[in-house]
Amino acid sequence: MRERTGGCLCGAVRYAVRGEPTHVGCCHCADCRKRSGSAFAIYAHWPLEAVDLDGELREYDGDRFCATCGSRLGSIEDDTVEINLGTLDDPPFDLVPQAELWIKRREPWLHPVEGASQYRENRH
Ligand SMILES: [Zn+2]
Ligand SMILES: [Zn+2]
Repeated sequence: MRERTGGCLCGAVRYAVRGEPTHVGCCHCADCRKRSGSAFAIYAHWPLEAVDLDGELREYDGDRFCATCGSRLGSIEDDTVEINLGTLDDPPFDLVPQAELWIKRREPWLHPVEGASQYRENRH
C-alpha cells in the first residue's frame, strides 16, 4: 500500500497517510483564500485510521496548524482527515482534483482541471 509523508514547514509536525485518498478537491472560495494565504485550497481526504500524525497542533475554526510555524495541515471531521496537499513531502504530489468548488471565485488565469467536476459554489 502506498504511503505518503508530509509535515509543516519547521518539521515539528509530521504525518503519514496510507493508501489512496477517498477524495481530492480544490476550492477557490473566499474563506479558503484567507486561510491559506493563496488563491485556492487543494486538499484530500483519508480515513482517520489511515493517518499517523505526530506533533503539537493548534486549532482555529476546525483548521489544524503547527503551534510553532503556523503551517496549516488540514482538519479532522468525524472519521475523516482532510490534508492540505501542499504539506506533502517531495512535490509534485501526483494527486489530481476530482472536484473544483466555488469556481465563480476562480482567478481568470487559472483554468478548469480537466475531468474534475465543476461547482459554482459548494458541492452540497
Ligand atoms: Zn511547524
Ligand atoms: Zn473553500
